Amino acid sequence: MKTTRVLSGLFGMITFACSQPESVQSPFDKIEPVQEVYQPLTLAEVKPEGWIKKQIRENLDGFTGQLDSLIPALTSDDKIYGEERLTEKVKGKDVGALGVPGDWQVQFLWWNSETQSNWRDGYIRSAILLQDQEHLAKLTSYVDYILSTQDKDGYLGIYDQDLRYKFDNENGELWAKTTLLRGLLAWYEYSHDEKVLSAIERAIQNAMDNYPAGKSHPFYSKQPNVGGTSHGLAITDVFEALYRITGKTAYRDYCLFLYKDFSEQELNESAQYKKLINDTLLLSTHGVHVYEHLRSLTAAYYASGNPELKHALDHFLEKIALETTASGAGVGDEWIGARKADATTRGYEYCSMHELMHSYLELMRKSGDRTFADKAEKIFFNAAQGARHPSESCIAYLKTDNSYAMTGGLNGDTTDKTQTRYSYSPVHQEAAVCCVPMAGRIAPYYAQYMWLKNDHALVASVLGPGSIETKIGDKVVRVEEQTGYPFENSFRFVVTADSKFALKVRKPEWAKAVTVSVEHTEEEGFIVIDKTWKGTETIEIAFEAEPEVHSDINGEKYFTWGALVLAAPIESVEEKTKSWPVPGFHNLKYAPKKLVVYEYADKPVSIDEKTMTFITELYNPETKATESVKLVPMGQTILRQVTFKPSGK
Ligand SMILES: [Zn+2]
Repeated sequence: MKTTRVLSGLFGMITFACSQPESVQSPFDKIEPVQEVYQPLTLAEVKPEGWIKKQIRENLDGFTGQLDSLIPALTSDDKIYGEERLTEKVKGKDVGALGVPGDWQVQFLWWNSETQSNWRDGYIRSAILLQDQEHLAKLTSYVDYILSTQDKDGYLGIYDQDLRYKFDNENGELWAKTTLLRGLLAWYEYSHDEKVLSAIERAIQNAMDNYPAGKSHPFYSKQPNVGGTSHGLAITDVFEALYRITGKTAYRDYCLFLYKDFSEQELNESAQYKKLINDTLLLSTHGVHVYEHLRSLTAAYYASGNPELKHALDHFLEKIALETTASGAGVGDEWIGARKADATTRGYEYCSMHELMHSYLELMRKSGDRTFADKAEKIFFNAAQGARHPSESCIAYLKTDNSYAMTGGLNGDTTDKTQTRYSYSPVHQEAAVCCVPMAGRIAPYYAQYMWLKNDHALVASVLGPGSIETKIGDKVVRVEEQTGYPFENSFRFVVTADSKFALKVRKPEWAKAVTVSVEHTEEEGFIVIDKTWKGTETIEIAFEAEPEVHSDINGEKYFTWGALVLAAPIESVEEKTKSWPVPGFHNLKYAPKKLVVYEYADKPVSIDEKTMTFITELYNPETKATESVKLVPMGQTILRQVTFKPSGK
């Protein structure tokens, strides 16, 4: 699993659009940084509404707001950034996961930093977006505590003096900082507290002093399988944010250094430059790494303007397309394994959905290319909603588009008795507490990226109910986006402003037609209303959607309506396998009552928009007849069939 395989035969059918550019000495030379098309809004400027607000509320009342009560030993009790920093004396840590003993368990030493800090990042963002005073008060104490752990030299992290920055193997030095500082950056956006920003800058300066750019090797390891070390490349998120806030180019340049060193070390990572440009290699390594590294390569390309990195980025995106299911998720049941996506046999991890969505949202922001927004919406509305339990506070760690059983193993497989990932839990401690924290991050990140801006435009990028208050130039602008999208495709934008700018609304790729209530133009897939705004004005926009049939990468058929991927729900029997000491939280497994795997019969789909149900006819190979089958948005399902092989009757 961990070795890279050469697949020239399998990969021969894929043609890459780009050819090798000439006259560049090294792919890691800085040429001219690429101008980013849009800037993000801060968390403080954004308010989700409607179903997105409701979902963040449910998370905050559920697994996000209560993870510390569910697993105090891994969250609040383990002061891994403070009193219990790791020293040479600590050789093991019980995090409650099942697995075989061995050398790889050294990874567990940093695990709790990821669990704690990714959890808090989602928690902080959720509390800010909902302005929940009770949670904000708790989080104020947390931020004060974390700042109190910072050493005089600026060090914030999980290692004591004897270990820090001196690794020749697996470590969580940069990764523990990445997850921690992303949360603190969110807190700074909300609080504008200069002491928080100063703490982040000092921590980052300490990392740059100890891993000087061009003169050190933060990704060096004497063996190539390093989970925490290579996760650490995602610290480009923090460097990019600091560059945006302070304008200091050293932060942006450091992203290029990090990607260069990551690429030049001997690591089992598919996002290394030399592997990306090799057309014979499919993605093979740990999925979550790969999908977050997409963002780091993008950061390095924008920092350098080096066409070789653009070339690698284009290859990367084409390789990800081969790993993408109908619901938009990138596969990887921990490992991508150099096998293409498949609706039934390839699982995807909740962590990966968040990371790939975030990477696409960043690509949309930087490039202005709307197709990345379509991809991000697809993941959030379909794969991610479809792995979140529709009525209980728990999620699936791994899930497939065609989900025929959620009893632990892949679609009912029982070969590996320790496999519990294909089931629902508010914690998933037996595997790792990574996915539940990430399930608390995905909706707040989606909400924050709904709008983008630059000096002369305000852009509705990914769509949904919410409101914003921001500045274009030095003028305040308020917009309410009133909609039930993607469950309806009409929007009312209520704009309050007294200045000239372009309001741009992304036209989704599936829109058959669009009606706009005011004068407008259409540019590169955006509805553009460029004018001097006065007082409060209302704009109505409606996109026309039709039920559509598509083919996935294996030629199986699936149905969509607008941004929603549809599924045939499968009735199931629920088994409660654990009740947590905190009331209302359960581990749940689902077996099908009766399983029929339908085939595509080339019949039309009718829609009832009021109930959001769709009816089509599918071929039942057992009865050898076509049957009327109800389809619903896959986000509402537990067991389901999403893709249908063309009927061979
Ligand atoms: Zn995970």
